[in-house]
Amino acid sequence: MAEFTMELNDEQKEVRDWLHGFAADVIRPAAAEWDEREETPWPVIQEAAKVGIYSLDFYAQQYFDQTGLGIPMAMEELFWGDAGIALSIVGTGLAAVGVLANGTEEQIGTWVPQMYGDPDDVKLAAFCSSEPDAGSDVASMRTRAVYDEAKDEWVINGTKTWATNGGIANVHVVVAVVDAELGSKGHASFIIPPNTPGLSQGQKFKKHGIRASHTAEVILDNVRVPGSCLLGGKEKLDERLARARERAKAGGERVKNAAMATFEASRPAVGAMAVGTARAAYEVALDYAMTREQFGRPIIDNQGVAFQLAEMRTQIDAARLLVWRASWMAINGKPFNAAEGSMSKLFASETAKKVTAQAIQILGGNGYTREYPVERMHRDSAIYTIFEGTSEIQRLVIARTLSGMPIR
Ligand SMILES: Cc1cc2nc3c(=O)[nH]c(=O)nc-3n(C[C@H](O)[C@H](O)[C@H](O)COP(=O)(O)OP(=O)(O)OC[C@H]3O[C@@H](n4cnc5c(N)ncnc54)[C@H](O)[C@@H]3O)c2cc1C
Repeated sequence: MAEFTMELNDEQKEVRDWLHGFAADVIRPAAAEWDEREETPWPVIQEAAKVGIYSLDFYAQQYFDQTGLGIPMAMEELFWGDAGIALSIVGTGLAAVGVLANGTEEQIGTWVPQMYGDPDDVKLAAFCSSEPDAGSDVASMRTRAVYDEAKDEWVINGTKTWATNGGIANVHVVVAVVDAELGSKGHASFIIPPNTPGLSQGQKFKKHGIRASHTAEVILDNVRVPGSCLLGGKEKLDERLARARERAKAGGERVKNAAMATFEASRPAVGAMAVGTARAAYEVALDYAMTREQFGRPIIDNQGVAFQLAEMRTQIDAARLLVWRASWMAINGKPFNAAEGSMSKLFASETAKKVTAQAIQILGGNGYTREYPVERMHRDSAIYTIFEGTSEIQRLVIARTLSGMPIR
């Protein structure tokens, strides 16, 4: 187990500087264009693949970094560049984690490389859990997977929504109900291989922010996948379901509550994205406040402006510390006894929304226009309090974890 540290080591600093260079030179200059186009920035993803940022190797190296700082450091730098483009770059990694965490070695070796493709022919992956009637309430998911024993195939039917890269991905990871009695404990994840008949893209959503990232419905109409596409395998699933049935008999509420804590270990990564956006807006605001003159002096000469900047920076640093702690706990298998993963996501995402709004205020009229990036950063930041569990759900998870009570 690595000791918790608040300092990147030399190798991590090198990686951070390399990522920062890419974010500053490639991502940031392309941000406004792809935000307006509302399309997946394929050329930027390809560029990231060429230098090795968009690759399984890079993602796995950060993911398995025992200090826990690899992923938050990478997320912060890329999202500092631009949130929409960065999500297009890391969206595949979020789907790949589902396979890395739950798949067999064979599944990892077969499917994860196909999620990325290669630099001359980049591919994407999508993770599809949310449904029109099952967002926060994961347990009310309706997509069903039924096992056809004779053919050793799973038959999947349902509609997924708001899937990042949904429909344009090469590989989709789909969560479906295999035992409706067990709530979220009766769910399983499936790989849907490229060009599988029955999977299609539904509506592509026009969004408030992160507009360079593709978000769409995914329709599953009698999708048949081989038994080998069940993540973790059938034996493991049967054992898990048997255990869940036993626990459900002992106390149903525990089964229901577990759903909301599932993402505890992955939430710090979203917190780190929020830190990146908040830091970007803060830097623009600080620079502007030092150079913009009104009443014959820089506006930062006013405490009203300077104190806001002091507050913004304090909140960003506090958010980063919570994210780093939770990320270190996750990789080192520390129990989240106070829902520290949710804490980090809650604080960082709310900070990003607040700080980007303050940045607009400090830039005045310029902040409100698309001539300056803080307007986009503010729109982008709104997603952090919604996906991977809303702020209300984070508060619910934290309160339930602290009290042990089934708070509603
Ligand atoms: C751009 C974007 C990308 C996304 N990417 C993906 C993806 O790749 N894969 C995927 O599976 N999903 C994805 N999502 C879906 C996202 O995770 C859900 O939107 C999120 O979980 C919230 O669900 P919901 O939208 O149904 O809101 P709802 O659950 O309907 O919530 C609506 C409001 O009610 C509040 N609320 C709900 N229940 C409670 C409660 N018990 N107590 C207090 N307040 C409550 C919520 O906090 C929220 O404010 C994405 C969404 C967006 C917008």
